[in-house]
Amino acid sequence: MKGMKCVACGKTAKPAKLRVDNSQVPGWKCPDCGEEYLDGVAVETLLAIRKLKAERLTAKVTRQGNSYAIRVPMQVVNAYRLKDKKQLKILPEEKRIVLEI
Ligand SMILES: [Zn+2]
Repeated sequence: MKGMKCVACGKTAKPAKLRVDNSQVPGWKCPDCGEEYLDGVAVETLLAIRKLKAERLTAKVTRQGNSYAIRVPMQVVNAYRLKDKKQLKILPEEKRIVLEI
């Protein structure tokens, strides 16, 4: 969505990165009156990720023929809206493996 009508003043709110606590969430900000509108899906994702951080989940490595798979808990799949066959970037670090969506 490029812009949306500001409910407060009727002008067009422009896409913007808005701050929610310590995170940036996409949304729209009205350049006229300053009213801010958060993207509902982005906020939902932010809340789901915060919940995951509190849960301290684990993932099990399993052998599948000549390769290995990492089983990801459904909470993670749902929070990041992962789909079957989704390609993730592997960002190796010394003591952890970061998967970028
Ligand atoms: Zn406005």
